[in-house]
Amino acid sequence: MNCTKCKTKAVISLPRHNAAFCKGCFNGFVHDQVARAIKSEWMFGKEERILVAVSGGKDSLALWDILLKLGYRADALYVNLGIGTYSEQSHAKVTKFAEVVAASHGATLHLHTVEQEAGAGIKELAQLIHRPTCSTCGTIKRYQFNRVAIEQQYDVMATGHNLDDEAARLLGNVLHWQEEYLEKQGPSLPASVEGFAKKVKPLYRLSERELAAYAVLNRIDYIVEECPMAKGSKMLQYKEVLNRLETESPGTKQTFYWGFLEKQSKKQPTATTMTEKDRAVLHPCTSCSQPTTAEVCSYCKMMVRAKTVVPR
Ligand code: SF4
Ligand code: ZN
Repeated sequence: MNCTKCKTKAVISLPRHNAAFCKGCFNGFVHDQVARAIKSEWMFGKEERILVAVSGGKDSLALWDILLKLGYRADALYVNLGIGTYSEQSHAKVTKFAEVVAASHGATLHLHTVEQEAGAGIKELAQLIHRPTCSTCGTIKRYQFNRVAIEQQYDVMATGHNLDDEAARLLGNVLHWQEEYLEKQGPSLPASVEGFAKKVKPLYRLSERELAAYAVLNRIDYIVEECPMAKGSKMLQYKEVLNRLETESPGTKQTFYWGFLEKQSKKQPTATTMTEKDRAVLHPCTSCSQPTTAEVCSYCKMMVRAKTVVPR
């Protein structure tokens, strides 16, 4: 198998593109897909400061790597969830990447440790406040990324969601006709109100397999294991189904998700846009000032509860 571009020996084949690439041309392909995503979705420019949400997994570390190599001003934030060896290992991978690769580009890694603020790791905290672990985790991560982005004056927050993540999420939203979520499923969400950072997903044109290959070929040392809390999740089930379809008909995920984005872009603007809707219902939390629909935001409520139930 030879590289479609330069005809030397290929290291990876991409059935959905009907192509194969050597390492150099594959890196070029990956960088090009990210550059196209940034440009077509008006994500950010070279002068803007980006905060990448890193977990220690292949996607987020690859995203940080690609943005730095493309010449963007990208720092990162890692939230240590306190999930035993999984968190210890992922924390170590992120720190190593920050010291070895990111530092050579002058990039900074910010850290937040759930245990330090809440008095317990995410699993124990969720049990004590009687909430599902992943929803507790989601609230904390969303809150901390937004807080750091706003406090440190980043222009935009970038996450490592890839084509597989977005296609699986779309499948879930369609299966349950969650129209409100469908409306917010684009790769670029504007900062609808003051206090909310703009959010983007520059990897939406690349699959999980392509990002794993990028990480391996570029010697990015990432944590291979998924978070143990993800076991049996609906998202993993949707991914499995889509993988089966993709094997039978290469390009299915791309057609599904990109087709959805194309339809979204052609939709007539509704009487009330998402930003207008947000502005109508959001106001600053009386405790921390982050936008919320209630008087006190769910993060602050959670921390108040943690102080009363977590043994210190
Ligand atoms: Fe958080 Fe792990 Fe659940 Fe993902 S799977 S939301 S990282 S606890
Ligand atoms: Zn608050």
